[in-house]
Amino acid sequence: MLQFFDAYHPEISFALSAVRDAARLGMSVQAAMVTSELIKDDRSPVTVADFACQALVSHRLESVFPDDPLVAEESSRSLQGQPAEGVRRAVTRHLASVLGEATDEQVAVWIDRGQGSPADRFWTLDPVDGTAGFLRHEHWVVALALIENGQVQVAALACPRLAFSGRGGAPGSEGSVAVAVRGSGAWGGPLEADNLVRLRVSDCADPSEARLLASVEPGHTNLDLLDSLEGALGVSAPPVRMDSQAKYAALANGQGELIFRLLSPSKPDYREKIWDQAAGSLIVEEAGGQVSDLRGDRLDFSAGRTLARNRGVLVSNGRLHDLALDALANVGADQPPGVA
Ligand code: AMP
Ligand code: MG
Repeated sequence: MLQFFDAYHPEISFALSAVRDAARLGMSVQAAMVTSELIKDDRSPVTVADFACQALVSHRLESVFPDDPLVAEESSRSLQGQPAEGVRRAVTRHLASVLGEATDEQVAVWIDRGQGSPADRFWTLDPVDGTAGFLRHEHWVVALALIENGQVQVAALACPRLAFSGRGGAPGSEGSVAVAVRGSGAWGGPLEADNLVRLRVSDCADPSEARLLASVEPGHTNLDLLDSLEGALGVSAPPVRMDSQAKYAALANGQGELIFRLLSPSKPDYREKIWDQAAGSLIVEEAGGQVSDLRGDRLDFSAGRTLARNRGVLVSNGRLHDLALDALANVGADQPPGVA
């Protein structure tokens, strides 16, 4: 398989198997730890999954591309000491179940390999994107991307809860994977099968028929502005709420047309983390869609661990991008809250 990607063949093979393995590991942590009795503010299952998935991808990267830095969310610092013992043991146990054996010390080294700095060529990973969705047994993903000279070149998303419909994957089957290589297209299919097919965005050009995909967490967006945008565009359907970059994979497969990542009024200075946008943005672009910030500027992945030079994100099927940018300017959402 994967003959369709000439360029970056070793990278895409690595990325695809790494996100699949990490998604399986995350699912087994979830099965073991996310129970109906879970106390609402106990985030330990997602902490275990975050650390375990980062350690696994990092360990795999070390053996395949030992010179490539990894820029990822977690550091082992919060796993140290007595209070973290239970979480630490669980992380090591879950890794040992995949690798045969693992010690706390090895796990800490693997996790911290993910504390690399952005360079001319590096990988960025969100081991569990959509942590709230993970705890609700809803959408979450493992997101991995290769960035070279500030441009995303290779992307992979494993989406354990996303069912691709129509052309994309197996209708009704839960769990999907999406990959892309710059210039070679985006491909997707079932999480556990090799029959990947080309992903294409929808060709909807009528904003009244557009389907919006939005975060579930109200604190990650601006619901009032989202309402105003729907009004300005004449969108009739209510937004489909979904955690994580599963929204990007769904849009790449024609299951929605617009994603507005608006700045939350409580965090007007928030800057997107690169691992929250890199993989999803290339998959959408290679499926024929368009990605920019709220002012229409391209996302700049050369500014460190965040998109420091961008404000918010607009993702579309391409045809609706300019209309969406006009609507953003009309409702003032291209400016941070509180700025005239
Ligand atoms: P979503 O699933 O769309 O809600 O996005 C999840 C991602 O939002 C997480 O990985 C966080 O890194 C990121 N995030 C955290 N706080 C904010 C915020 N105030 N605004 C936007 N995104 C945020
Ligand atoms: Mg994330």
